[in-house]
Amino acid sequence: MTNHVFRLLEAEGVPTHLVEELNDRETAVKKVEIVPLEVIIRNFSAGSFAKKMGMEEGIRLKCPTLEFSYKNDDLHDPFINSYYALALDLATQEEIDTISRYAFKVNEVMRRYFAGLGIELIDFKIEFGRYHGQIILADEVSPDTCRLWDKETHEKLDKDRFRRDLGNVEDAYQEVFRRLGIQ
Ligand code: UDP
Repeated sequence: MTNHVFRLLEAEGVPTHLVEELNDRETAVKKVEIVPLEVIIRNFSAGSFAKKMGMEEGIRLKCPTLEFSYKNDDLHDPFINSYYALALDLATQEEIDTISRYAFKVNEVMRRYFAGLGIELIDFKIEFGRYHGQIILADEVSPDTCRLWDKETHEKLDKDRFRRDLGNVEDAYQEVFRRLGIQ
């Protein structure tokens, strides 16, 4: 799914790590230095945002939001802002600006694409890397890193099925793949 989405993003002008899908299980990618920021874009309230803001899940936000977490397992990836990122020397202002611009572009492209498949893109997390001085999209985009809800039924088609013990995890992932035309 990551390769499928990354091809789409490349065509829309977002550079990614994708070089070539070698087979079902292997992909050649550009070897990046990961920027230690998790970049989260939200279109609807859900998860930690809904909890923090005392909101129900599934409320459309007036505009998409962007937030950063510091990628640090020992600290459980704490929420930070761009000033922290600069002060901790995690990224330069120029990199933060590029990352933010690409992240909103990724949202625009994915939101439109998933909407055409009857899927609402609630939120997602992406990561970027440095490659020969350029910022490119790396890591993955999948139901593990996105919240995807059926537009009509609001059924969850993502990792929340696993996290919240809702059952039918594999069926939900297969359904996303089917709609993407991957299998
Ligand atoms: N997410 C992720 N990896 C993480 C944390 C979050 O892929 O380590 C994704 C998650 O699947 C969701 C979005 O980022 O699509 C926002 O997650 P949130 O902050 O609401 O945290 P959660 O409720 O998932 O703990």
